[in-house]
Amino acid sequence: MKAIRYNGVRNMELIEMEKPVPGPGQVLVKVLLCGICGTDIHAYGNEGILHPGTIPGHESVGIVEETGEGVTCVAVGDLVAVGPPGDCGQCYSCNTGHPNTCVHAFPNTLGIGPGTQGAYAEYVLSHFPQNELFRIPEGMPLEQAVLFDLVGVGFHAVRRSELRLGDTAVVFGCGSVGLSVVESAKLAGARIVIAFDKKPSCRERALEAGADYAFDPTEENLNRAKELLAHQNGAHVCFEAAGNIHALYGCIDLCMPNGQIMSIGSDANPAQIRTAQMGPMEYDLKFSFTYTKEEIHQLFEMIRAGKFRTEVFTTYKAPLEQAEQMIIDQIQGKLDVARVLLEP
Ligand SMILES: [Zn+2]
Ligand SMILES: [Zn+2]
Repeated sequence: MKAIRYNGVRNMELIEMEKPVPGPGQVLVKVLLCGICGTDIHAYGNEGILHPGTIPGHESVGIVEETGEGVTCVAVGDLVAVGPPGDCGQCYSCNTGHPNTCVHAFPNTLGIGPGTQGAYAEYVLSHFPQNELFRIPEGMPLEQAVLFDLVGVGFHAVRRSELRLGDTAVVFGCGSVGLSVVESAKLAGARIVIAFDKKPSCRERALEAGADYAFDPTEENLNRAKELLAHQNGAHVCFEAAGNIHALYGCIDLCMPNGQIMSIGSDANPAQIRTAQMGPMEYDLKFSFTYTKEEIHQLFEMIRAGKFRTEVFTTYKAPLEQAEQMIIDQIQGKLDVARVLLEP
C-alpha cells in the first residue's frame, strides 16, 4: 500500500509498504479521508514533534476492512472515524473519566507516537479499536465526520471550562480550534464572545461561527474589548487557542478577577508569567487537551441534528501523493482552509 513517511524536518516521502494484517483484538480500516492537522504542519517545520519514520495522520475516516480475532466493537463494512486517543483503558486517568490524559496515550497515538503508522496511507491498523474507533452515525457525510478532531478540541475546552449561561468569553486564535471554541461557547450560552486573530479571513470566520466581535489583537482593540467587558472587569473565561504565549498574555489581560483562563494551544517555548499579577486576581488557570470518546459521540449527534454547524470549517480535498505540497502551501499561506483532506 501507499503511505507518506515523515523522515525529519521538511522531509516527507511517498513510500510503498506492506498492508497491515490485524492481529487479535485489532482492526484494519481502509482510509477514505484523512485531515492534515495543525500538529502535522507544525511537525513538518519543527524538530521534536514527530519522530522520523512515523507515518502521520491522526484524524481520518474510513471503512472497516478486516477485524482480528475477538473484536466485537465494530464489524467489517462499518464507517468509522479513527481518533487520536490511543488510551489504554486501564490506568488511573482512564478509570476516572479522563482518558484524554492517559499517560500511555501519546506514544500509542497513531500518526503521532514514535514510529506509529497513522492514516497518511491507504490503510490504518487500530490497536485499541474500542477506544480509537468512533462509529459514524448513519447519514452523516464523511466530510463532516472527519472534522471530529479539530471540532472536538474546542468542544472539550468549553465543556472543561466553567462558562455558564449569560457569561462572557474571549477567544485568542481563530484557526479551526478557536472557531470550534467560539461556536461551542455560544451553544453553551455565552452572552458575548470576543474573538481575536491577526488574519482577516479568520476573523470573518469567527463572526460566522457566532462571535459577537472579532478583532485584530492590537493594543487599541484589547482596550476596546476591555470597554465591552467593563461591567465585570473582564471576561468570565478567556480561551487561548493560538498556541503562542502572547495569546496567553492577552487572556491574562482580559480575564475578570476570579475568572478563568483556559490554555488549549501548546507552545514548546518557555514563558514568563508574573504570579504577582495573577495571584491577587485569583485567576483560575486551566489547561485543556484533546477530547474524550464520549464527547465525539455527543458532537456527532449534535452535528447530525444540525445543532453544531460545520459550514465554517472549510475543506479542500487532495490526493495522498500531494500531502507534502499541501503542508507547504499551508505554511506559505497559499491555502487558507480549515482542513485539507487527503484522499488515499
Ligand atoms: Zn489533530
Ligand atoms: Zn490509560
